[in-house]
Amino acid sequence: MSATILWGKLYAEKLKSEARAKIIELSEKTGIAPGLAVIIVGGNPASQVYVRNKHKTCEEMGINSQIVALAENTGRQELIDNIEKLNNDKGIHGILLQLPLPKGLQKYENEFLYKISPVKDVDGFHPINAGRLSIGEKCMVPCTPLGCIKMMELADIPIEGKKAVIIGRSNIVGKPMANLLLARNATVTVCHSHTADLAKIAAEADILVAAVGRPNFVTADMVKSGAVVIDVGINRIAPKKITGDVDFDNVKEKAGFITPVPGGVGLLTIAMLMHNTVEAAKMQLLP
Ligand code: NDP
Repeated sequence: MSATILWGKLYAEKLKSEARAKIIELSEKTGIAPGLAVIIVGGNPASQVYVRNKHKTCEEMGINSQIVALAENTGRQELIDNIEKLNNDKGIHGILLQLPLPKGLQKYENEFLYKISPVKDVDGFHPINAGRLSIGEKCMVPCTPLGCIKMMELADIPIEGKKAVIIGRSNIVGKPMANLLLARNATVTVCHSHTADLAKIAAEADILVAAVGRPNFVTADMVKSGAVVIDVGINRIAPKKITGDVDFDNVKEKAGFITPVPGGVGLLTIAMLMHNTVEAAKMQLLP
């Protein structure tokens, strides 16, 4: 039997309406709407589309959105000054630095990300937030893995006691995903490019998360019958065509649940950015 397809749009709408209700509640209590600042440096066309989408979603949600657009040749100190200014701006509760940065600034990327105040770090990339997540404390959680978890919870997919395998160990997807699943009492294995017998490990998973960045990496023989398959990958295979990390057509015949690409996890990421902005505003405004 073919898998149930987890359409991102459905869950993203639910998560956005939850966030909208919290925005209304916060505004009623404090008279203040959450504020999100997105810093974009240079003219990367894909980044400009992402930033526009974030701005549009903020407007729909009742979040004050500020885009700080800096020139391609912005210097290290100028970018730091902009981050510090937003850190001190009481109307801004969340700050996001759009990546990738222009070539000349890439070597300072971590320095910039770590300058963002942890309470305003809506991407959850600051080491304080990563550390808090790993010890199970309240923190800002990276949007993509958080969206995957929220989607599973909304779809009533059990996590506790399940064998979860994550392919990919990046700081923005694989590792936080592992911590989130562990916190929900899954038994978690994280695979990477040095993992031996990866296909065999993947085939034992009740929940298989692919965050590799390689089209068709996960094939049907790597999937246990009835497994939940979450495809985080976004791979551009033609100018206007993207695909995930999972061989969707074949894996859907074997899995119990599967996320499509496009139309799956990607849509949840922006919904979780809204969620994180509201949570950041609540933390700052409600003692
Ligand atoms: P990274 O490149 O940072 O990490 C990729 C991971 O995959 C690494 O841990 C790497 O292992 C592992 N890997 C690569 N090749 C292999 C292999 N042959 N066998 C086993 N493991 C391998 O990517 P990200 O985590 O940032 O992103 C992963 C994918 O998710 C990308 O396609 C990205 O575009 C997408 N993405 C989607 C988002 C969304 O909103 N839907 C948000 C963020 C990312 P090693 O550590 O050993 O190098």
